[in-house]
Amino acid sequence: MDNNLKKEFKSIVGSRNYSDGEAERFCYSYDATRLQYRPDIVIFAENTEQVVRIAKLANENRIPLFPRGAGSGFSGGSLPVKGGVALCLTKMNRIKEIDVANLVATVEPGVVNADLRRAVEARGLFYPPDPASLEFSTIGGNVAECAGGPTCIKYGVTRSYILGLEVVLGTGDVIRPGGVLVKNVAGYDLVRLFCGSEGTLGIITEINLRLIPLPEGKTTIMAIFPSVEQAAKTVARTVQSRILPAALEFMDATCIMAVERYKKIGLPTDAGAVLIIEADGPARVLAAQRERIESLCRECGAISAASADDEKERENLWQARRAISSAVSSLAPRKVNEDVAVPPAQIPELLRRIDIVAKEMDLVIANFGHAGDGNIHVNILYDPDVQGMQKRAEDAAERVFDIALELNGTITGEHGVGITKADFLEKQIGRKQVELMRALKGVFDPNNIMNPGKIF
Ligand SMILES: Cc1cc2nc3c(=O)[nH]c(=O)nc-3n(C[C@H](O)[C@H](O)[C@H](O)COP(=O)(O)OP(=O)(O)OC[C@H]3O[C@@H](n4cnc5c(N)ncnc54)[C@H](O)[C@@H]3O)c2cc1C
Repeated sequence: MDNNLKKEFKSIVGSRNYSDGEAERFCYSYDATRLQYRPDIVIFAENTEQVVRIAKLANENRIPLFPRGAGSGFSGGSLPVKGGVALCLTKMNRIKEIDVANLVATVEPGVVNADLRRAVEARGLFYPPDPASLEFSTIGGNVAECAGGPTCIKYGVTRSYILGLEVVLGTGDVIRPGGVLVKNVAGYDLVRLFCGSEGTLGIITEINLRLIPLPEGKTTIMAIFPSVEQAAKTVARTVQSRILPAALEFMDATCIMAVERYKKIGLPTDAGAVLIIEADGPARVLAAQRERIESLCRECGAISAASADDEKERENLWQARRAISSAVSSLAPRKVNEDVAVPPAQIPELLRRIDIVAKEMDLVIANFGHAGDGNIHVNILYDPDVQGMQKRAEDAAERVFDIALELNGTITGEHGVGITKADFLEKQIGRKQVELMRALKGVFDPNNIMNPGKIF
């Protein structure tokens, strides 16, 4: 990018929000995939007007724009693969309104998920989408990836909570699809189109979110199993028993060992699998549900099934759950981190076939995730210094995708396609749908400046 253009970008956001220095370009060259691509410049927008001017300038000069929240993505979505501008939205972090009467929150994209949750909980309300990255990932990034989390089994993913958006298109035009209404069927549902669009259609600058009443209470049960099969059977039995938990999380033996090494919360390192099952609702219903779930776990072979009703104990359990990804990362120099999803009843078959892949390819594969909604995080560990091991890990990932698709599943339940899964998208949805998606992108972003190189 030439110096005159750099000056023009700088004049839009001011010198405190602009950098073309080595250090910043390095800092904003990565996300959670550990892949690296350097932007030419890094800029922070503080309001929609600035975003509009940035988009117009970029569009006129065909400069690629890479929107970025916390950079915690697992598929390379925010990486500046073609240089250009790393456009950081983290300074647009105001919760503009919590409308208690109408159960709507209006926020800027850089608001951190957990900050919003705490703010609405203080008013007796609940914003359910809870990615494990909730303490640092932004609502803008959550919307752009359609993030999910443990509560999805009962409450659905981010998509279910977006009522309206303000979006700056690659041309600099501002549109406001949706609004603050639960019912609104005027025209095509562009809100849903932007949800999960991974920054390729426009820059989200404001979000209207649906809130629900905060459940009265919660109970969290940790069940320990000798084997993965017994845990998987419990997942299936729970769902079939007409119990709808607020979360149903799974970790295998490798994950248990990794978390215990990382957090030391007293997990049994000789167990085959652990389930964390949460129920929420009124106190009188909770007691019955807890009993039912605990006995179901025992019937399916659990060594123990105990509830953590105390808030501190519960939080410890959830912190351990949220630490799995980082804990597993500490087991090997690198990992391929996939997030396939299958219909929940297929989880035992998915895990059985992943185990075969691990054995045949002589790899350690650690599995954990949102067993209640069928979304399993498959972590294939490898050391790039061991000859041929990275290739084996990548081949194993491809086999896992194939297995998921054979079981009516998806190559990604929540992390998005980004760059890491772009080669496999057509396998799942077919050429015609890929062509339609490309054509849609062209309508919103005719000069292909919005996050080019992603998804397709
Ligand atoms: C430890 C860990 C645990 C995780 N657990 C989960 C989990 O449980 N569930 C889950 O779904 N994900 C999880 N993730 C992945 C990641 O946190 C989510 O994808 C999250 O939604 C990304 O938010 P972000 O603010 O970091 O966005 P970024 O990573 O910065 O960006 C993600 C994508 O969104 C686009 N984008 C960001 N902001 C905007 C905007 N304002 N307008 C348009 N596009 C934008 C970017 O271009 C990019 O394509 C986890 C990640 C980590 C590191």
